[in-house]
Amino acid sequence: MKVFENYVMKQHSNMKVGGVAKKFIVVEDKNELKEIIENNENIFLLGNGTNTLIDDGNLDMTFVSTKNFNEIKEIERGVVEVGAGLDFNKLIAFMNKNNYTGLENLAGIPGSVGGLVYMNGGAYGSEIFDCISEIEIFDENHEIRRIKKEDINFSYRHTEIQQKNWIIISATFKFQDGFNLKKVIEIQALRESKQPLDLPNLGSTFKNPKGDFSARLISEAGLKGTMIGGAQISEKHPNFIVNRGNATFEDISNILKLVKKTIKEKYDIALEEEIIIVKGEQRR
Ligand SMILES: Cc1cc2nc3c(=O)[nH]c(=O)nc-3n(C[C@H](O)[C@H](O)[C@H](O)COP(=O)(O)OP(=O)(O)OC[C@H]3O[C@@H](n4cnc5c(N)ncnc54)[C@H](O)[C@@H]3O)c2cc1C
Repeated sequence: MKVFENYVMKQHSNMKVGGVAKKFIVVEDKNELKEIIENNENIFLLGNGTNTLIDDGNLDMTFVSTKNFNEIKEIERGVVEVGAGLDFNKLIAFMNKNNYTGLENLAGIPGSVGGLVYMNGGAYGSEIFDCISEIEIFDENHEIRRIKKEDINFSYRHTEIQQKNWIIISATFKFQDGFNLKKVIEIQALRESKQPLDLPNLGSTFKNPKGDFSARLISEAGLKGTMIGGAQISEKHPNFIVNRGNATFEDISNILKLVKKTIKEKYDIALEEEIIIVKGEQRR
């Protein structure tokens, strides 16, 4: 493993906000996890940081990166084991090369495979669990084991991994033949036309409430374009918050509070964050 002390986290969140962490550890082998978990406190597992807002003070925390778990192993035709740290779009490229179908609707999501599995990420009617057959984890008893999909509780943007604090080591996918490149190109164009990809952001900020869309509610409430300090509710996609260059953790927290308060008062709907917020005192 590689261990860095007093490590600046800003570059590890796609919002480009983040303070100085006590430690940043890059795991190189899954057998190191036991030692890391048993000898550190206040641990946060980090993938690509595309869904994670990090506090910008001094963080008495250890961030653990699984980015080196990035192997793709084809066990047999249609069965592919993928390391949790792999950038999801590298998996899409592998599927293209090997003519596998099933996850095209997710193309362009900038997260790691582990980040997507953790929260059952998805887009345009598909989710990562559609194609998963099993996952390999480091569990709450500090054991490495494999669990089949049918034994995992998951739903819209939720998995039991979140409550159990499991560390995802790899995911095994079951794919059919027939990569749909046309679909990927269409989805990527849609993302570029609808999302403010030119500015730091964390994707959709709030989960969609039942039967509605957070973006619609925020827009209708007249909040589009609202700025607090360097943070802004995107004009292009009102469920995205963008960093206009010098946003602080407090600016973004204040925007979150404003949106939640306004939507509650206007529509009696309690919006819930989809993004993950890491405060200095966060614990596993
Ligand atoms: C422009 C943009 C568009 C986006 N579009 C979408 C979209 O369409 N659909 C969607 O679902 N999301 C979307 N997102 C959000 C984000 O990309 C996904 O949620 C992605 O799954 C996060 O992956 P990550 O590796 O960046 O996770 P991180 O932000 O690093 O971490 C997210 C959570 O996963 C946990 N985690 C990460 N790796 C592991 C691991 N190995 N073991 C255990 N826990 C782990 C972390 O502890 C954290 O709680 C978008 C984000 C951006 C910036």
